[in-house]
Amino acid sequence: MAKHAIIKSFYASEEWTNLRLQLINERGNRCEHCKEIIPKSKDIIGHHTIELTPENINDYSISLNPERIELICFDCHNKEHKRFGYQSEKEVFLIYGPPMSGKSSYVRNHMKRGDIVVDMDQLYAAVSYLPYYDKPDNLFSNVIGIHNLLLDNIKTRLGKWGNAWIIGGYADKYKRNRLADDLGAELIFCNVSQEECLRRLEIDEDRKYRKDEWSKYIIRWFETYTE
Ligand SMILES: [Zn+2]
Ligand SMILES: [Zn+2]
Repeated sequence: MAKHAIIKSFYASEEWTNLRLQLINERGNRCEHCKEIIPKSKDIIGHHTIELTPENINDYSISLNPERIELICFDCHNKEHKRFGYQSEKEVFLIYGPPMSGKSSYVRNHMKRGDIVVDMDQLYAAVSYLPYYDKPDNLFSNVIGIHNLLLDNIKTRLGKWGNAWIIGGYADKYKRNRLADDLGAELIFCNVSQEECLRRLEIDEDRKYRKDEWSKYIIRWFETYTE
């Protein structure tokens, strides 16, 4: 996926060439995915599990970190990047839980570049030009319209995204399960107690002037939550 000159020069660099050879010496010539022997060492691909970008390429804890590099064969590498018609099944995840339960951090830690993420707060920010925690009521119908359009895209697997992540409260069990069924989504619960959510709100910098509003959101979520 080396489109940028800076990424091309990284792959040509001495640091990378040496690291790749060193890893081949240490790990041998078996593909780490399919376990097939790769006869010619020039065919062993050093694949970065975090896709390199011009922004992260100089962070050597990403680009030159053996723990983030896999030695794999050509076929497995194509599958990994979903190239040349190897489009594997798209996975859809519905991340739910109370406000302040860490849903967006969970997604940030598990998503890959090229995934699609649907988050009402971020959609609000995109069209209101306000910080994500300030959501004017009058824009709700427009924001929910975009949100529903994206959910429709995901439902029909329209587009070239990798996996999809839908973030929301989804306190009501019936609505949650129906949406998950509709989308063919796997449910992931950010299971954090009301006390802990309120404690996080107490020390949250972004929401420090909106504690009343957000503690109401938290309490309302727990009142309406059905397991
Ligand atoms: Zn392989
Ligand atoms: Zn790769």
